[in-house]
Amino acid sequence: MVHSENATDTTNTVSNNNNTILGNQSQSIAEQLSQLTGNSVKDSEKIMNSWLGKRQWDLTTSVQFDQEVLSRLRSLRVALLVVDFQNDFVDGSLKIGDGDAGQDPANAIGPLNELLQLNTWDLVVYTKDWHPHNHISFLSQAHNSDREMEKKDENRTLNFFDSVQFMKPIKTEQILYPDHCIQKSWGSDIHPEVHIAPKAEYIMKGVDPYLDSYSAFNDNNGRSKTELEDVLHREGIDAVVIAGLAYDICVRFTCLDAVKQNFLAAVIPECSAGLMKKGIEESESAFKKHGVAMISKEEAKGITDGEFLPQEWVQKIALAKKSSE
Ligand SMILES: [Zn+2]
Repeated sequence: MVHSENATDTTNTVSNNNNTILGNQSQSIAEQLSQLTGNSVKDSEKIMNSWLGKRQWDLTTSVQFDQEVLSRLRSLRVALLVVDFQNDFVDGSLKIGDGDAGQDPANAIGPLNELLQLNTWDLVVYTKDWHPHNHISFLSQAHNSDREMEKKDENRTLNFFDSVQFMKPIKTEQILYPDHCIQKSWGSDIHPEVHIAPKAEYIMKGVDPYLDSYSAFNDNNGRSKTELEDVLHREGIDAVVIAGLAYDICVRFTCLDAVKQNFLAAVIPECSAGLMKKGIEESESAFKKHGVAMISKEEAKGITDGEFLPQEWVQKIALAKKSSE
C-alpha cells in the first residue's frame, strides 16, 4: 500500500527555525492526518502532542515525526481476513441469520465481494471452521464416552447454545451447537457467492476434537496456535482488516487476538453478520476498549489506496514509536 506523498511535503521544505513556520508545519501535518482519518484536527494534534511529550515542535521533532510515524503509516502492509464465510453459517445447519440480531449473512456478501475483487490488498486470507465429526462443540457428541462434563451438566437435559463445563479429556468451557462445518462437507465450503481472490491463504481452525477455536489465531484455551500468525509475519503484514461470520463470535475473537499479537486491526460490520444482539454490543465495546477500528466498506477501500487510515492505527503507531525525550 502506498500513501500519497503530500502528507509530509512540508516537513522537508522547512528551511529555518522560524517558529511561525514550524507552528504552521505541525498544524499542516495535523490537518493532513485529519484528512486521512476523518477526525478533527484537534484529535490529530492530541495524538501528535502525546508523541511529542515534553519536547517542542521544531525541525528535529517534525522530521522525526515524519520518519517514525508518517512514513510507517504510508508503508503499512495490509491483509484482508475473511472469517468463516461458510455454507453452514449462511444457509446450513448453524445459520447466523436465525440469531436474535436478525443479521442475514447474505447481505454482507455484496459489499465483501467489492473488497475481495480489489487487487490492492497485500494478502487475502480466508479462515474456515474445520471440525472433525465428533467435535467438542457439537451437542450431538456431548455424551460420547471419550469426554466428561461436570456432574450438573452431565445430568441435565442439554439444548443448543447451552454452555457446559467439560472436565475430560481437556478442561474447557463450551457452548453446544448443532453439527456444523465438518471437514470436507458441503457445510464447510466457503459460500459459493463469496468471491475467491487468487493467491489467497487458507487457515483451518477448530480442528482439535476436544477444543473449539473462535479466534483464527488460537484455540479457546490458548493451547495451540493456527498458522495465521506465521503467515502474516512471513508476508510482512502490519495490519489486518477483518470481516465475516459470526461478527460476535469468531470475528470478535480474531480481532482481539490480532491486537494482542501486535497487529493493527479493523473490522467491517457491513461485511459481517452477527448472531446475538447482546454479543454484538459486547463485541463492539471490546473493540473500542482494545483499539480495533470499526470501519465502513468504503473506508476499507480507502485503506488499500492510501486515502484513509483509522484513527486507532495512527494512535497506536504514534504511541508505540514514541521517542525517548
Ligand atoms: Zn465451530
